[in-house]
Amino acid sequence: PSLLPELAALIRDVADFPQPGVTFRDVTPLLANARGFVRCIDALAEPWLEQGVQAVCGIEARGFIFGAALAQKLGAGFVPLRKPGKLPPPVLSIDYQLEYGRDRLEARSDALKPGERVLLVDDVLATGGTLAAARALVDGFNATTVGACVVIELSALQGRLRWSGGEPLHALLRY
Ligand code: 5GP
Repeated sequence: PSLLPELAALIRDVADFPQPGVTFRDVTPLLANARGFVRCIDALAEPWLEQGVQAVCGIEARGFIFGAALAQKLGAGFVPLRKPGKLPPPVLSIDYQLEYGRDRLEARSDALKPGERVLLVDDVLATGGTLAAARALVDGFNATTVGACVVIELSALQGRLRWSGGEPLHALLRY
């Protein structure tokens, strides 16, 4: 089978989770499928193979899974961008707005070097707030964001509009 239908078939749609009216895209069947997971990582890596990526920054928690595999594929290091309170100090952090309330991402305060070439990774782009915050955190290190990639883009939420700056943002699947 061709790649995208094969991957799409491994995403489970869960109605009314985590709230009524929301359809959650569950990537765990894709992770559990040996061939699907390999093909997903190969496809995620493809646009970045010649981009000199030095660090892959994955967003907690599912961004860690895709990001770690992607880092190995790209010959880059992996840096976890974590939810608050998980990393020992010192950390650099960024606060950002959610639909309801606020959240924060943190990284070890020496996790990235100035000018280091960074690729951001997450499983799903929804409103784009998380990815925009991740990018602002990388900016705080004066590192260079080469671009970002996600497995799934929920197009109706227009998260792509919050990805300012013009670097490529690649999504494998769009809903
Ligand atoms: P955003 O900040 O773009 O609104 O939300 C993106 C974040 O929420 C990502 O870290 C992603 O993991 C999570 N997320 C939002 N909706 C979904 C979904 O339907 N499925 C999964 N797996 N994660 C989601």
